This record gives sequence, structure tokens and C-alpha cells, in this order.
Amino acid sequence: MSAIKPEIDLGNHQLRNRVLLTLSLVIFLSCLATGLQNLFTNKVITQWVAVSQFIFSSFFAYTSVSLFRGKKKSWFNWAIVYTYIGLILFAVCTFGIDKSVVMWLYSVPVVSYFILSRFHGFFVSTLVLTIIICMRIDYNLYEAGKAWNSTLINHIFPYVVIIAMANVYEKVRIQNEWELSEYALTDPLTGCYNRLALKSIYSTLKTAHQNTSLLLIDIDYFKRVNDLYGHEAGDKVLKALSTLFVEALSEKQVFRIGGEEFLLILDGDAREAKTQAETLRSKVQNLNFCYDEKPIHLTFSGGFKRLAVDDVLSDTLKEVDLALYDAKSKGRNQISYV
Ligand code: GH3
Ligand code: MG
Ligand code: MG
Repeated sequence: MSAIKPEIDLGNHQLRNRVLLTLSLVIFLSCLATGLQNLFTNKVITQWVAVSQFIFSSFFAYTSVSLFRGKKKSWFNWAIVYTYIGLILFAVCTFGIDKSVVMWLYSVPVVSYFILSRFHGFFVSTLVLTIIICMRIDYNLYEAGKAWNSTLINHIFPYVVIIAMANVYEKVRIQNEWELSEYALTDPLTGCYNRLALKSIYSTLKTAHQNTSLLLIDIDYFKRVNDLYGHEAGDKVLKALSTLFVEALSEKQVFRIGGEEFLLILDGDAREAKTQAETLRSKVQNLNFCYDEKPIHLTFSGGFKRLAVDDVLSDTLKEVDLALYDAKSKGRNQISYV
């Protein structure tokens, strides 16, 4: 359970799906148009080609509709990109490496790095580069009788520059995406995950892991800490308690969802989770926290709930909040169970 990593979509998935949908539609329309053209010839062989083109176009009609309806399957990426590259290579083989259709090949690194992973993009681009070199050498030998001449360099060099640029761009993009999502999902004071991170893992949490409980924690009389010792002391309390929770559980189970409120995700069956919750409560109660060599006694109150598959985040938070309120009204330093 603790392995769920919060993630946030910074718009890249959406953009990638739009590019994928465009490619899928292009393949669908080109297969359909050339299929119709072949169907109305008098040759039986081309009519059979037309049938295979219709099968292809129906497959890409299906991927286009699925992408449009937001029902993407993981294999769409490579199916669409490999077909796109296959069609370009087919056109280059049909019309010849010296024709302007070869220009389409230069889109391969950009498309494959963007849609597939960085490693996969590099593999596909290098494979296509090898094919270009082989075809060009073959053409040079046929036309001029020698394998190497300047046109070979003119084909390879721009392609290698595009691969290098796509590689650098993708590396920087992944790094930026990672940093931005860390900023968006992390609380700057304690380094814990925040409410947005909780929202992002919530649906996975309740469907993938049946044995999950939530514990909403609110530090007792925290305002007094600020009033008596200053805001900096309050901040240090928040950091110390978040460290205690992370050490007792794991960083993916601790969320700071409000000023002095934390939500903890507990593993195990009901009895185990309740024991964990009570252990944490007594750990905080017995914590020897000092600020400026002055001891500060800390306790928390909590609301506990077992998570059900059909629970909605906002309702669950309301339920644990009511349980927390109950614990406060009963005198604090205790946990109420829903
Ligand atoms: P209770 O036992 O009823 O929870 O009492 P309380 O004093 O903890 O509750 P209250 O909601 O009155 O006070 C919460 C305080 O938490 C008020 C606010 O100044 C303080 N607080 C919220 N965020 C931070 C923060 O990031 N740093 C510090 N130092 N204080 C914070
Ligand atoms: Mg509070
Ligand atoms: Mg409080």
C-alpha cells in the first residue's frame, strides 16, 4: 500500500493523447483513401490490397474513437507510432530515397521521443537512421557506383541533429515535470505530501488496497505553542511531528492537509491499524520536545475510519473530521473510531 506514489498531470498526458489522436486519424484517413482508390481498379491483386487497407483503417478508426472518448489503452502508443513510421518507410521504398517523401523521415525522432519513452524513442530513431543509411548507400552504389558521397552526409547529419535535440528536450522536460510535480504535491515546511497529493492517490488507494484505514490528526492546543513560544517554535513542532510520523510509517503515508492537521494512511486489518494509531498517539504524548531548552508537551486528537471501496474523498474527510471533533469534545489526546 505504502508504494503508491502521488502524481499530477501537468498537461503532458493530455497533449500527448491529442498528438496520438491526430496521428491515428491521419493513418485512418490515408488507409481509407488509398483503399478506396485501389478498390476501383480492375486488378484483383490491388483489390486484395484494398481489403487489407480497410482492415487497417477500421483498426485506426477504433483507436481514434477510443482516444477521443478518453479510453486510451497502453499499447496505442507503440501501435500508432510504429504504423506511422512503417507507412513513411513504405512510401520512401515505393517512391525512392532521392524523392522529397524522404522529408517525412525527419519527423520520426520528434514523434517517437514525444509519444514513446526516451529510451524507446532513441531505439526507434536509431533504427530508422540505420535504414536510411542502408537505403542511401544502396542508391549511391546504384547511381554513382560509390557508397559514400556528400548526399549521404546531407541525409545523416540533419537526422542526427534532430535525434540529439529531441533527446535533450525530452531529458529537460522529464526533469522539469518531476520538479514541478514535487513542488505541487509537497508541503514546503514539513516536506510531507499535501492535500493535492492525497487527492491524486485516493482512488488508487481504495481500489487497489482493501486493508486501509485513515487517521486524521489535529495537534491539541497548538495555538498556545505559537502564542507562548512564537511561530518558529510552532513550525519546529510541525516538523518534529511530521518526522515522527514518517519514521513510524513511510513518507507516502503522511499528508499535511491543513495548518496543524495531518492525515495518515494505516496498513493492516482493523485491529492492527487501531494499534498503530494508539502507538502513534502515545509516542507523541511521550515525545521530549524542547524549544530554546524549554520542554513543550504535545498531544493530538484523532478521527479514525476504515476505508471502503465506494468511499468518496470529501465524504471520508467529513466522517473522520466528525470523529476528530468527537475526540476533542471528549477531552483531547484520544482517538475516536467511526
Ligand atoms: P485544538 O486543540 O482545538 O485543536 O486547539 P488549537 O489551538 O490547536 O486549534 P486552533 O485551530 O485554534 O489553532 C490552530 C493554529 O495553528 C492556528 C494557526 O496559527 C496555527 N498554524 C496553522 N498553520 C501553521 C504553521 O504553518 N505554522 C505555525 N507555527 N502555526 C500554524
Ligand atoms: Mg485545527
Ligand atoms: Mg489543533
